[in-house]
Amino acid sequence: MSQQKPPVVPGQVIQLKIEGQSHTGDGIGRVNGFAVFVPQAVAGERVEAKVTKVKKTYAHARLQKVIEESPDRAPAPCEVYEACGGCQLQHLSYPAQLRMKRQQVIDSFQRIGGLPDVEVLPVIGMKEPWAYRNKAQVPFGWRKGQVVGGFYAPQSHRIVDIETCLIQHPDNDRVVSVVKKMARELGIPPYREKSHRGCLRHVMARIGVHTGELMVVLITNGRDIPHRKALVEQLRQAFPNLRSVIQNIHTRRTNVILGKENRVLWGQPVIHDYIGPVKFAISPHSFFQVNPVQTEVLYEQVRRYAALTGKETIVDAYCGIGTIGLYLAGDAAKIYGVESVPEAVEDARHNAEMNGIDHAVFETGAAEEVMPRWLKEGIRPDVIIVDPPRKGCAPELLDAAVEMGPRRLVYVSCNPSTLARDAKYLAEKGYITHEVQPVDMFPHTSHVECVTAFEKD
Ligand code: SAH
Repeated sequence: MSQQKPPVVPGQVIQLKIEGQSHTGDGIGRVNGFAVFVPQAVAGERVEAKVTKVKKTYAHARLQKVIEESPDRAPAPCEVYEACGGCQLQHLSYPAQLRMKRQQVIDSFQRIGGLPDVEVLPVIGMKEPWAYRNKAQVPFGWRKGQVVGGFYAPQSHRIVDIETCLIQHPDNDRVVSVVKKMARELGIPPYREKSHRGCLRHVMARIGVHTGELMVVLITNGRDIPHRKALVEQLRQAFPNLRSVIQNIHTRRTNVILGKENRVLWGQPVIHDYIGPVKFAISPHSFFQVNPVQTEVLYEQVRRYAALTGKETIVDAYCGIGTIGLYLAGDAAKIYGVESVPEAVEDARHNAEMNGIDHAVFETGAAEEVMPRWLKEGIRPDVIIVDPPRKGCAPELLDAAVEMGPRRLVYVSCNPSTLARDAKYLAEKGYITHEVQPVDMFPHTSHVECVTAFEKD
């Protein structure tokens, strides 16, 4: 690598041709070979941008003018798109977003996996790629003496006040508006990060889209909520579908959104939703896929790849509240689920019972520790399903999975880089894949979800 000084300095206005797109959706151009990342610039465009940050091997620049426009560019419908940072791809037409996501998976399999022959299928997108999210978590704070609630501006803790979020379910949006209005009118003080004072830190709204059941979680710095009764009353009046109002007490100085303790202020401790015919109870801490329409599409792909006949033993690793295993329960003889969050495991057991599923067992623990133990205990699943977080699977887990000798290993991934890395590892161990199916779970953001199946070579 060249040791030369970077050819740009902060504040400089440059013109450049955008050659590609980073995995977060930024346009990438070059100045004398030096990479410059420009958010909201599109591959193929010539743009004018102002350099904001210079590192040893790359720089960041802010888009100022599009000189030659790409046909993939589309006007972003959201008014706060640029300030917010929650979405990264609204400046692309939806078909172009899907093409870009597919390319990202192809690139990962080529560059990280060294597996250029794996076929990456076109991304399955949504017919209506808006208002899809079933959960909102909105930080509250102060700005110029006014109560605000919205999103953190990119790479900062400055809250951008917003009234509507176009990818959010309208009820979740309205919950935030109602709480904000009440906080302003009644004087419920939001939390101040610097002084660690004030009350309201975040508002979380969750809706079961198939049942309509709505949950509101008020995350507070301490036990007291001024005007609590009036606030709950307002929420009840505004939302006939409200089923649960919960206070989550969170007094620590941390970026983690939820504290440990939940207190039911009104209604039930959980709401319910369906994925296909299976009913799930969702509590404030439960992980539940945020895009219910695409969750079913994703799980149907898992079903297709698992190719079950009803006789199989399956493992559902990183099972959360048991969703994938329980969704496939009708096609399997025995299900073993493992998950590290104890509350999620409790939910999984409860969900199995609620659906009359008695051939599923769930264990709390790290999948990379529990799987080797199951191997020793002689558990030999026919199909193993893994759905790890972004960092992918630990080698200990993949080793145990391979030694169990399943007919298939179905891998659900929210990060193509770690999927490709793990695919390479599995190929070395004799489990190969020919095909990957990406599913768009998060339209307008740069996230890509994939499903694939590994079989013995
Ligand atoms: N399959 C579920 C959840 C997927 S999210 C669904 O589709 O809804 C990934 C899950 O892995 C989370 O619930 C997280 O708590 C859990 N997890 C993270 N690290 C883990 C580990 N090392 N072992 C077991 N579970 C883990």
